[in-house]
Amino acid sequence: MRNRIIMFSLSLLLILGLVPGPAAGAAAKPKIAKEKQLALDWLARPDTVEKFGKISDAIWEYAELGLQEFQSSKLLADTLEAAGFTVERGLAGMPTCFVASYGSGKPVIGLLGEFDALPMISQKARVPKQDPVIEGAPGHGCGHNAMCTAAAAAAIAVKEAMVAHGIKGTIKVFGSPAEEIVASRPYMIRAGLFEGVDAVIDNHSSSGFGTDYGVSGNALFSTIFTFKGKTSHAAGAPWVGRSALDAVEIMNVATNYLREHLPLSQRMHYVILEGGEAPNVVPDKASVWYYVRNTDERLEDMYRRVIDCAKAGALAAGVEIASMRVVSAIHQRHANKAAAELIQKNIELIGMPAWTEDEQAFAKALQKELGAEQKGMPKEVDKLEAPSGAAYGGGSSDVGDVSLIAPTATIGFPGSVPGSIGHHWSAVACFYGSTTWKGLNAGAKAIAASAVDLLTKPEELGKLRKEFEEYSKTHPYKPLLPADAQPPNDLNKELMDKYRGLLEKALAVK
Ligand SMILES: [Zn+2]
Repeated sequence: MRNRIIMFSLSLLLILGLVPGPAAGAAAKPKIAKEKQLALDWLARPDTVEKFGKISDAIWEYAELGLQEFQSSKLLADTLEAAGFTVERGLAGMPTCFVASYGSGKPVIGLLGEFDALPMISQKARVPKQDPVIEGAPGHGCGHNAMCTAAAAAAIAVKEAMVAHGIKGTIKVFGSPAEEIVASRPYMIRAGLFEGVDAVIDNHSSSGFGTDYGVSGNALFSTIFTFKGKTSHAAGAPWVGRSALDAVEIMNVATNYLREHLPLSQRMHYVILEGGEAPNVVPDKASVWYYVRNTDERLEDMYRRVIDCAKAGALAAGVEIASMRVVSAIHQRHANKAAAELIQKNIELIGMPAWTEDEQAFAKALQKELGAEQKGMPKEVDKLEAPSGAAYGGGSSDVGDVSLIAPTATIGFPGSVPGSIGHHWSAVACFYGSTTWKGLNAGAKAIAASAVDLLTKPEELGKLRKEFEEYSKTHPYKPLLPADAQPPNDLNKELMDKYRGLLEKALAVK
């Protein structure tokens, strides 16, 4: 009886709209357009979930570094081609870059998709303690295995809706290599691949399910400084030699002093790529790879000062700067508010996936191992919040450049464990299997639903365009990438050649 009263009161409250239902989207029953429903139904099919889950797992196993993603890129491009998309491969000077298109004419809606891994963080799937597949090998510690996969699933769902309901326009997937070295998008823009695109929906793996707008992340110069000196016997006649390694070390000391005099928005880090081969030969060649990060307004001035540090190193060591190779240079992300608002409605419609007991147990075990709060997987989608306005550094993404040439927003989709650490073995452990399958499927639904809205509701696309055109008046796109820069197709080759076979062998016997 008491239960009945509670039930009655609850249903009354629900009718009055005072409490949200168990699944907000389902309880509120918003009217879903038939085109959108068709795309969502196609994605909800168990065979669809499994197909794209397995693609994500395969890319996780390939664990290919930026611009070496030959298997990952082929799998995604072939999948889209088999679904009726026209696929152009090897674009913008990058063998693993592709664009897949379906439909014709306006509007043109672009979906971004990444698929590269990170070096050094190999880890066995769903194992909640550090345990590499192959020590030192690459791993998917940022979930990019699920990202172009989600975009591809969404694009095919949109295509199904376009065919069934005669929707006009074009849907495109931008297969974007090497996000982890922020390398592909400025080159893709330079090659004109985004010309005519009216709006862009980006996506990223996450533990939550949400989107955002406003300026975020850092602009970045990724540059390799190479010094040229003279060899000599390091003990017999060191005065004859001029050490290129000395120049690297002096440059690094100078940049580390420079940090004190930069605003807090800066981030700067480096690795030494070459520093000689034996202590008894003065190294005549040395190189150091820098990521120099700051806001769009502050980056170029900071970069000039870092170049001064390189010159100082060369001068002090008596060597020359042989080259300053800009691998990539990108802007901050300027996400479109109208796009984020549209996406948020679709995220709320779809809701957070339900997690099984096994999935919760893995999440809690990993959280325990990491000393994080043992709260398991999230239950609710994120709210859309106004940007904080604080400019305190952080990472970078070459999605930034895209956001300055077309209205763009990013869907963060779930699957990872809250408290796991990006670019770390704990993230690699998460991005495989059932939670990632469900998370990328939820992400694909939000992408597809938003793309269908933009294709079928000119007034919605109009809001994005109007905001973007207004914003562009004060933030016109000016590439930071030097005109003579070339895609770094060579950079990860040696590492990938070393680990590809080892990973294949280890995973074949798992
Ligand atoms: Zn990432």
